[in-house]
Amino acid sequence: MYHFLMYICTIKSKQNMKKQVTEFKSFAQMLDVLNTDEVCREFLENIRWEGSPACPHCGTQHKEHYKLNVKGEFKGQYKCKDCRERFTVTVGTMFEGSHISLRKWFIAIYIFSSHKKGISSHQLAKDLGITQKSAWFMLGRLRNSFQSKINVQFTGVTEADETFMGGKNKNRHADKKVEFSQGRSVKDKTPVFGLLNKGKVTTGVVTDTKAKTLRPIIEEMVKKGEIIVTDEWNGYKGLSPEYKHEVVKHNEERYVTDSGLSTNSLEGFWALLKRGIYGIYHQVSAKHLNKYCDEFAYRYNTRETNDSDRFNLSVVNATERLTYKTLTGK
Ligand SMILES: [Zn+2]
Repeated sequence: MYHFLMYICTIKSKQNMKKQVTEFKSFAQMLDVLNTDEVCREFLENIRWEGSPACPHCGTQHKEHYKLNVKGEFKGQYKCKDCRERFTVTVGTMFEGSHISLRKWFIAIYIFSSHKKGISSHQLAKDLGITQKSAWFMLGRLRNSFQSKINVQFTGVTEADETFMGGKNKNRHADKKVEFSQGRSVKDKTPVFGLLNKGKVTTGVVTDTKAKTLRPIIEEMVKKGEIIVTDEWNGYKGLSPEYKHEVVKHNEERYVTDSGLSTNSLEGFWALLKRGIYGIYHQVSAKHLNKYCDEFAYRYNTRETNDSDRFNLSVVNATERLTYKTLTGK
């Protein structure tokens, strides 16, 4: 249903992060510091466990789990003191079961999260010296890790707006051309809905932009009694009178309400999303569009975070494993 209702980028408190992570002044420095797979593994252990390994099988976390040597060397294999199962730090993360080295993963994370418009799987494959299929899979897992749960309702001013993603008429085959395709409600375009509150955006694909679809989303996400700013689109009519609904009259070529509010920030985000998707990713199927929305929302929401903190945050978020099957839907 409303996939995006469940997800938004949560930024873990900086103080919390600072305790566990290394600051990198640049990409070059990150490459210098995280220079072997062993160092990368220790870095991940530090971020995930803070010195006390946690068994993913039974959940116990303490310093007494056994360290197993392979050919006389410790390479991150642990044996649980309680349930006796073996584990490594990558179990349950997006790195689990991957033949790509942890260091290449970290490089991919850095590039992917710091480049404003993202990176294509072709470019990433070239940069890392891996196949395009592997790069595509890595990007899928990365995108997946950029989602995290939202558990508070928005207060203050929230902008709500919708946009349509899809190809342009001039690129379409003659019999597939659609009239008025630059406007709303176009059949072959995919509607995307978004909310922007205190500088953070949350977006997702919706089935349509009718009031029956948008109203429940707004009412679930935004606290009653707070301010909603929209344009005059029908989909926003009939919102609960408990909201202070401010309407921007785009039809009258006005871009702010009488009290000075607008949907300009969210429209700025749409512009970024469209430039990014059409520019780098060329075309995205409706099925994958949600993940691209999350990817661009993540970058947007961390735009004031420096590359180093964003990298650390992305590694922290890298805890969910996504299989090839889930990714491709096959
Ligand atoms: Zn255990």
